[in-house]
Amino acid sequence: MTNSLFTDDYKTTPYWREATPALDLSDQELPAKADVVVIGAGYTGLSAALQTARGGRHTLVLDAENAGWGCSTRNGGQISTSIKPTFEQLSSKYGAQRAFNILKEGHNALAWIEGFVADEKIDCAFRVAGKFVGAHNPVQYELLGKNIAQQIKGLESEAYLVPRADQHTELGSDIYHGGAIFPKFASVDPARLHRGMLERVLEAQATIHNHCRATGITADGDGFCVTTARGEIWTRNVIVASNGYTGSSTPWLKRRIIPIGSYVIATEPLAPGQMDRLIPRDRIVGDTRRVVLYYRASPDRQRIVFGGRVSLTETDPLVSGPKLHASMVEIFPELAQTRISHSWVGFVGYTFDKLAHLGKHDGIHYAMGYCGSGVSMASYLGMRIGQQVLGLKQGRTGFDELSLQTRPFYTGNPWFLAPSVMFYRWLDGMNR
Ligand SMILES: Cc1cc2nc3c(=O)[nH]c(=O)nc-3n(C[C@H](O)[C@H](O)[C@H](O)COP(=O)(O)OP(=O)(O)OC[C@H]3O[C@@H](n4cnc5c(N)ncnc54)[C@H](O)[C@@H]3O)c2cc1C
Repeated sequence: MTNSLFTDDYKTTPYWREATPALDLSDQELPAKADVVVIGAGYTGLSAALQTARGGRHTLVLDAENAGWGCSTRNGGQISTSIKPTFEQLSSKYGAQRAFNILKEGHNALAWIEGFVADEKIDCAFRVAGKFVGAHNPVQYELLGKNIAQQIKGLESEAYLVPRADQHTELGSDIYHGGAIFPKFASVDPARLHRGMLERVLEAQATIHNHCRATGITADGDGFCVTTARGEIWTRNVIVASNGYTGSSTPWLKRRIIPIGSYVIATEPLAPGQMDRLIPRDRIVGDTRRVVLYYRASPDRQRIVFGGRVSLTETDPLVSGPKLHASMVEIFPELAQTRISHSWVGFVGYTFDKLAHLGKHDGIHYAMGYCGSGVSMASYLGMRIGQQVLGLKQGRTGFDELSLQTRPFYTGNPWFLAPSVMFYRWLDGMNR
């Protein structure tokens, strides 16, 4: 690779994996029987397994690659209230009370993850650092202010505006027209969070099987037979936690989940003092564009970790890296010569109604579809689906019984993505 934007030792694996490599879980033999088989060892699967194992169920977690290989070690480590549709949008569909219950879960997930990390003593650089949302035009700045002023009672997020004149106290950039601060939003090292969960799951006597893809699930008596690359397991319950990597072994879910690539780069270490100018208060950062950019300092404040959707169709991290770099330099021109040390991609799971879903179909439990905001929500709903398997009433959520929709002719290949991204970019461009 001759592109001088990359360091000589650049990697196309997540920066987070440098300090926390995948665990080499020995290839244990699969038992013939289990109480619960969890498919997918990301936040959702591990959080579910922690509940069922602690609830006394013999629990097996399978991952087609290695535990954490999916989004759970590829994300930006930004934690907010996670739910995309507004109260108005949800209440016109479901009524005000249901809308409230759904949105409340975003607040519940944010509060829960902080408590979980503390209670489980997970050392993962979790920090209530706050978020800066930059307005990409004056109208969006007004709108941020209006949204803060008109929050629904009981669903308020602490927030305040920062006008453009004061922006440099929050961000060393002139690109935004002011922005909003959400002081309760948090940052985390995603791979260390995942590792902490994994350790708790193993301590709870669940087993995790890497390189063990589930290839089919069939009803069998009062349970299921799960076929895998390494043999068959009979189990009373199955929890599918494969999110943006959902495949043909669960065709009903595959028709309902839209896999979308999200791309991230990490830079080489910045010059001394530079980070204190660019991200002085260590906030996580996003903006008001539809095709959003998200970025932050690494936990040691040496590097910028910068993500977004940079191409219409899915592409290679060697192609997305320079595009993200260009977007980063638009925001921070002084980083023009700063090179990329890591460039990677992960597939988030979207849904047609832009809501996460958990539930049961043909007796098979699932939780997925976090629409790109799943650090807290996947962990939280994984916990809830685990409780549902245990039959616990605290497992109930505001998402229960929402219909997980598909569209005619959709089979898991989002052909409509490129035109949608193009349209949203056009809208973002118009607004600028
Ligand atoms: C680049 C990127 C940036 C992101 N940034 C943020 C962020 O800043 N904040 C935020 O809140 N969210 C963010 N997200 C989203 C968040 O990371 C995800 O919502 C969350 O990690 C989902 O966790 P999960 O356990 O459901 O899925 P994953 O972590 O993706 O795990 C699914 C697992 O299922 C396994 N699997 C699939 N099929 C099978 C099978 N048949 N058999 C066995 N195993 C199987 C896969 O190998 C994979 O390991 C980001 C995502 C990406 C990709």
